[in-house]
Amino acid sequence: MRALLNAVDELAPEMLQFAKELIDIPTVNPPGEGYRECAERIADRLCKFDFDVRLLPTEGHRDHSPASPRYNVIATRNGANPRPALHFNGHIDVVPPGAGWTRDPFSAVIENGRLYGRGSSDMKCGLAAAIYSAEALRRAGIPLRGSLQLSATVDEETGGFAGVAHLAEAGLLTSRTIDYVIIPEPFGPSRICIGHRGLYWFRIVSHGKTAHGSMPHLGISAIENMAVLLEEIRQTVMPEIAARVSVMPVAPLESRCGTLNINSIQGGEPDFGLQSPCVADRCEVVYERRWVPEESLEEVRSQIIGALDRVARSKPGSKFELEDYGNTVYPASTRRDAELVSTLEQSIYETLGRRAELVASPGTYDHKHFARIGNIVQCVAYGPGELEQAHQADEWCGVEAMVQSARVMALTALHLVGNIDIY
Ligand SMILES: [Zn+2]
Repeated sequence: MRALLNAVDELAPEMLQFAKELIDIPTVNPPGEGYRECAERIADRLCKFDFDVRLLPTEGHRDHSPASPRYNVIATRNGANPRPALHFNGHIDVVPPGAGWTRDPFSAVIENGRLYGRGSSDMKCGLAAAIYSAEALRRAGIPLRGSLQLSATVDEETGGFAGVAHLAEAGLLTSRTIDYVIIPEPFGPSRICIGHRGLYWFRIVSHGKTAHGSMPHLGISAIENMAVLLEEIRQTVMPEIAARVSVMPVAPLESRCGTLNINSIQGGEPDFGLQSPCVADRCEVVYERRWVPEESLEEVRSQIIGALDRVARSKPGSKFELEDYGNTVYPASTRRDAELVSTLEQSIYETLGRRAELVASPGTYDHKHFARIGNIVQCVAYGPGELEQAHQADEWCGVEAMVQSARVMALTALHLVGNIDIY
């Protein structure tokens, strides 16, 4: 164990340098730039580290085009047997830098123990830490009883369809070849994320009847009716959602139940140039409803349908339509007593001397695809960085956190797939 932790420490400067190189490639999504260069850089490194590496363009996928091609990487290092198999997965895409940076987002620097750059926390430092934790086992001369695998995938920030979902559908990331998955998303060195909430996105359209704006009694205002509906949802649906507190340890606490957020609202005439005096005949809102495992999608939908029906009955002439917006996500979670979770807990205790905190994500990440398409039941997110830093200006990841996480991941790999008897 000591030799392994020493190997991680010796590799730390190289790991930091590699993280900087990855950040310097602007893999901005949307639209998905620089994927090939970044995937090749990772593939090269994994080849040097004795992995069997495949660089896979997503030919034929609807999101793959000559202008913005999608490339994923899958790598395996087999030991005595292919199983058990521990798989690390990280996404290579980053969100656009946005405004407010005081540094170049794509020229990574270390200042005061923090590595700055777009994608540092979310999640190129985590990916580098996973790659170097796997390498530490080799450098320390630890034989494998199972296999170590790693994938670097695209498009997580926009749903992961050409990334993890695509590879899982192709049979490359499934329970047929994988036992445990660790996704180094930025939850910090002592937190294990066991899953995430679900997401139901929907649009409500309110239909009215236009008339001259000076005589509104001759028309039906779609906006007025929508206002009544929004208030009905606020008064009746939201308390019902808030009362359903989940056993899943979602952090922050405010997200431990379902939540409802209005993404957008549009109604009447477009707000540019002059308006004509008309009663608005159309208004639409888009809502995002986050849901917990204790709820079902049917319940989630029927709450909204109930509110629509109540308003339609109480306001003659009102007419609403409910449309699914697509990209529905089901909640995913790994059991707290799963071997992957208890092994990570043990490794955190051995490395940091503290008890791990189990959390679940209020949002969603690639866990959903491993669970629902890949049929993998043991999947967690564990990695360096700060969740609050993700998608922010001047994003950073702590250097110490990166080394600590790499140690924990190396130790976890040793416990799960290393041949400790020989070693
Ligand atoms: Zn991420």
